[in-house]
Amino acid sequence: MSLVDLHCHSTASDGTLAPAEVVRRAAANGARVLALTDHDHVAGLDEARAAAREEGVQLVGGVEISVTWRGQTVHVLGLGIDPAHEGLCRGLESVRGGRARRAELMAGELEKRGIRGSLEGAYAHAENPELIGRTHFARFLVEDGHAKDIKAVFRKYLAKGRPGYVKHEWATLVEAVEWIRASGGKAALAHPGRYPFGRVVREELMLEFRGLGGSAIEVVSASHTADQAQEFARAAARFGLAASAGSDFHGPGESWMDVGRVPALPEGCVPVWRELGFDA
Ligand code: AMP
Ligand code: MN
Ligand code: MN
Ligand code: MN
Repeated sequence: MSLVDLHCHSTASDGTLAPAEVVRRAAANGARVLALTDHDHVAGLDEARAAAREEGVQLVGGVEISVTWRGQTVHVLGLGIDPAHEGLCRGLESVRGGRARRAELMAGELEKRGIRGSLEGAYAHAENPELIGRTHFARFLVEDGHAKDIKAVFRKYLAKGRPGYVKHEWATLVEAVEWIRASGGKAALAHPGRYPFGRVVREELMLEFRGLGGSAIEVVSASHTADQAQEFARAAARFGLAASAGSDFHGPGESWMDVGRVPALPEGCVPVWRELGFDA
């Protein structure tokens, strides 16, 4: 186990716990360094920072930016960002701007499959309506009896190619890295093992990301097998990138890995938190 978790979500995006609850849970699980990385929003960071001070946890300001790269959605973590930075805030606002319209289109597609009321149902699960997203639809669809759990509902309705999926243009890779760096943060490519790319294209993504000023690859993630963690640790070393590690926790019972319970990085990795000046 490591004492660091640099990827998790709160009710500021699609998590089920408030920012302070996420921090307290991470602390109870033994975390010393924690980044709250809500999707396209930094609204949870003030509350998280106050709770972290009380718990003796070092909080890393974070965000997970939605990006479209070669027609696929890719996520980029901003770590050590300044949540008050104007350029970053304006950028995040522009990325989230399309979510409401996309939600309407998703509800329309689901309606064609005979599922009524999903727009209101999804918003009822979204504490931050600006961040309305697929996870909120998933929670409604489970509650409404269309699948047994969140994973099943994504497979059946919400993953790319399924009936409730709506194509969307997020930020560009250039923009995401630029906003993160302008606000004083380091960019880490989130869960590379989750994208529908073969090894060649995935490594092209890593190289392009590095060329734009990206700093790290998320090596250890709930989305990765132990073999993938080894593969991405080698890729990071080969490309001169640091390594990150995170649970991608969204809430109790919905996540593969609990917040603050992240396996250690493979041998030889350069931890990105050290480059950010955090110690664990
Ligand atoms: P969105 O940004 O609205 O497209 O939603 C993306 C979020 O959906 C991710 O951050 C995950 O929380 C969730 N998600 C995506 N794919 C899956 C999946 N196969 N199983 C569970 N959750 C998923
Ligand atoms: Mn999510
Ligand atoms: Mn992600
Ligand atoms: Mn995430």
